[in-house]
Amino acid sequence: MHTLIGNRYIQNLLDFIFPQLCLGCSEYCNNISQICQACEKKVLQLTLPYCLHCMSQMDKNITCQKCKKNTIALYSYANYEDPIREIIIQFKFKGIIAPAKIFAKRIYQEYSKLIKQHKADFLVPIPLYKYRENSRGYNQASILAHELSKLSDIVVHDDLIFRIKKRKPQSKLPIIERKKNIESVFQINTNADEKTHCILVDDVVTTGNTVLEATKELEQSGYKVVAVISIAHAF
Ligand SMILES: [Zn+2]
Ligand SMILES: [Zn+2]
Repeated sequence: MHTLIGNRYIQNLLDFIFPQLCLGCSEYCNNISQICQACEKKVLQLTLPYCLHCMSQMDKNITCQKCKKNTIALYSYANYEDPIREIIIQFKFKGIIAPAKIFAKRIYQEYSKLIKQHKADFLVPIPLYKYRENSRGYNQASILAHELSKLSDIVVHDDLIFRIKKRKPQSKLPIIERKKNIESVFQINTNADEKTHCILVDDVVTTGNTVLEATKELEQSGYKVVAVISIAHAF
């Protein structure tokens, strides 16, 4: 009893000195998720996968009615709008990695049944250019993939794909220039053996050009990309 009171006292004191702030709006927030009630209400959550080729919503059978065949499914937790946008900026650039665990859990809660159907062998995070990863200290897509791996038991293959060219961040370019900017930036480390089904993992998918370019390279090396997972989808 004594220890419990002591712990609570210390926790209250810590909260006073370092108040926990909402990752979305920086207001004081004591939710475990670090996302306040007001921000939670603003999240536009997605519940069905999108077709990576035409970006229309797929049905529950993971089929695109527009492409009329099984294409690559994109599973995103939410729309890329605030507060999600702000949280991802902190996750990407400010060393705040808590969102990886928070969103991996939410993604998996929503889509685990569908994700299991792909029978993937690897989760493959979209790599950063080495220099960028070194200066930032981490690759957010890899951290997210490792959190997803704990929930799904699918192993992360961190060294399968790497960037060989430094390019302008896709988000800083007009949509029309993005496809060209990302061409031939990836290289594959080893060709596929019998384990070949991959799910790509990235923080945000917008036009899909980056993941499609990675898919192209992986498929040339004998892998099959069966799905893509991201925290957010920008339309
Ligand atoms: Zn908030
Ligand atoms: Zn489609």
